This record gives sequence, C-alpha cells and structure tokens, in this order.
Amino acid sequence: MDAVFYTDEYLGDGMKPTYYKALWHNCNSCKIHYMSEEPHIRAYLCDECWNAIPHFQVKNVQAVQRKVMTKKKDYSIGEILLYTIGNLICLAVIGCYLWLR
Ligand SMILES: [Zn+2]
Repeated sequence: MDAVFYTDEYLGDGMKPTYYKALWHNCNSCKIHYMSEEPHIRAYLCDECWNAIPHFQVKNVQAVQRKVMTKKKDYSIGEILLYTIGNLICLAVIGCYLWLR
C-alpha cells in the first residue's frame, strides 16, 4: 500500500512549500505499516521482520582470476605468400572464365 504525504512546511527563503513524498507499505509478515523508499530491497518486510529472518552469507570466497589472453599468433611470411598466391589463382580462374570465354 502506497500513500503520498504532503506538508506545506516552508524552507526559509523559498516561495513554494516543500513537499515530502512518504511511501508507506504493509509488512509482508506482520502487516505493520512502515516507511521505505525502496521496499523491494528488503522483500517488503519491516526492519524487525527483515532482521528476524536468516540471512545467507557467503564466506571464504575465492578470488576469480582472470585468464590471461594468449597472444594472437602472427602469420609467417610463408603463410601470407601462400594465401596471396591462392587468392591470385582463384582470381585468375575467374578472370579466365569471364574474359576469355
Ligand atoms: Zn514486519
């Protein structure tokens, strides 16, 4: 249950009244009214009920180590030449079929 709460209290030099937005909720467990701006963080429970439930705690967490990226293998000049010659042969075959026939 949400409710908006306004007050016309003045803040010194301000001409407009200051408004306070108060959010009231019903506790899911004891149904008491309580105020919170982020009730979902505590599962819509009041402070007492929230502290009463068991809280899961993680202990002795091992630090996750990042895997070091292996350096990319460089291409040797032989591989580059082989790739280039292969491409040229393919182009030559395509060129033959396009221009000579
Ligand atoms: Zn409660």
